[in-house]
Amino acid sequence: PERVFSGIQPTGNLHLGNYLGALKKFVALQEAGRECLFCVVNLHAMTMPVAPADLLDQTRQIAAAFLACGIDPKKSAVFAQSSVSAHAELAWIFNCVARMGWVERMTQFKDKAGKDAERASVGLFTYPILMAADILAYKATHVPVGDDQKQHLELTRDIAERFNRDYDAPGFFPLPEPLIQGPGARIMSLKDGTKKMSKSDPSELSRINLVDTSEEIAKKIKKAKTDLLGDMPSDVDGLKGRPEVENLVGIYSAVTGESVEAVLRQFGGQGFGAFKPALADATVAHLAPITQRYRDILADPAEIDRTLAAGAERAEAIAAPILSDIRRTVGIWQA
Ligand code: ATP
Ligand code: MG
Repeated sequence: PERVFSGIQPTGNLHLGNYLGALKKFVALQEAGRECLFCVVNLHAMTMPVAPADLLDQTRQIAAAFLACGIDPKKSAVFAQSSVSAHAELAWIFNCVARMGWVERMTQFKDKAGKDAERASVGLFTYPILMAADILAYKATHVPVGDDQKQHLELTRDIAERFNRDYDAPGFFPLPEPLIQGPGARIMSLKDGTKKMSKSDPSELSRINLVDTSEEIAKKIKKAKTDLLGDMPSDVDGLKGRPEVENLVGIYSAVTGESVEAVLRQFGGQGFGAFKPALADATVAHLAPITQRYRDILADPAEIDRTLAAGAERAEAIAAPILSDIRRTVGIWQA
């Protein structure tokens, strides 16, 4: 049977990239009637230093954002990773299935650890193993993520395949398919068209947060980096070598639903002085209702906790028999 799983780390404010690349697609899958699990991956958030009180607050914030974007806890399981212990246990088992060389190739570790990899947490290194566990603990078949997670998904498939082979259990784990298509799969930083927009980017001006006011959004778009080539190009070819412009046009297309070609036909030949305010208006219009719902939901943290607790029960009920089968398969004693 098909099953959708995806997670978001409680590492700070959600941004437009998270929304367009992930959350918006989650809602579409839910509305298409798929069985969905959406997880606040709080154990992942510990791979970088975080104050305990912040981790807790941010966990509720991501849950609130799921709901604000249209995830319906009656249809989809919304829960925290830490509430289903299968994630951590399976991550250990997969630590023993994955090979060092596979994990050493992961570019996210290199990006996040920076120059001083010796000082990074071991958890940051094994992050993609825990992610494989998140997905396979439910035998999920489809994983909607942004383009940056493609490599981790490939590792997940490698782990599933290796497990199936090493334990002589053909087809035990499905090989999960990434769902990465469409506009918004890769939104770039507003300050650097070669870097993805990230929660953990130190520059606030690099991203549009879901909680930003319309004034903040307009200001960030106004200050967004463009280039010295001047006007907007009028066709897709003209975007070549202009990553910042390509990104802004991509955002316009994603929030309005118009094709990139149509956006360029409309704005080609005009200056950024004309395009940027239009982009700001379109972005604000798209985000405003979500931001409003988000604030309303956050005002009642006890209700968020009830939602997370109910979601945990649903997720646990799916994971428990799978985990038991896994233990039996690998020879881990259980009562
Ligand atoms: P962090 O910087 O802490 O890693 P993040 O912004 O990368 O935060 P994650 O929680 O790691 O957010 O990722 C949540 C989801 O959002 C993933 O599916 C990821 O692929 C997607 N995503 C993250 N950044 C972007 C982006 N710039 N464009 C499109 N999708 C994105
Ligand atoms: Mg990330």
